[in-house]
Amino acid sequence: MGALPVFRWRLAPDGYATRRQLRAQGLRPGGQDVAAQLERPRRRRGPLVAYLYRVDLAKPVRPMTDAKRAALAKANAARRTCPQCRRDAGYVIPPSLGTCVPCAFPTPSDCPRSV
Ligand SMILES: [Zn+2]
Repeated sequence: MGALPVFRWRLAPDGYATRRQLRAQGLRPGGQDVAAQLERPRRRRGPLVAYLYRVDLAKPVRPMTDAKRAALAKANAARRTCPQCRRDAGYVIPPSLGTCVPCAFPTPSDCPRSV
């Protein structure tokens, strides 16, 4: 605990930002504690104090999570899957063909749909 540094409005030192300012930079506090307080002008209603966070401890709003990685891998797998025979072609289906190569140029042994 202990007293937080308090800065006058617009006199906050570099390296500190409000949650809103972090957000504008694509950042979020990222679980860090409030690092300082900012006294806001009394002209308007609202909180008289804003909380400041350290920019160097902030984290990107959308980090590459495992879930996102998996979703991307899945999307890539979908792009590799032939819409006609539903097989993973092992490469991204060429838009010019729209199917895997065996489907685009069928031979009886390669593509089950051509039987
Ligand atoms: Zn195919």
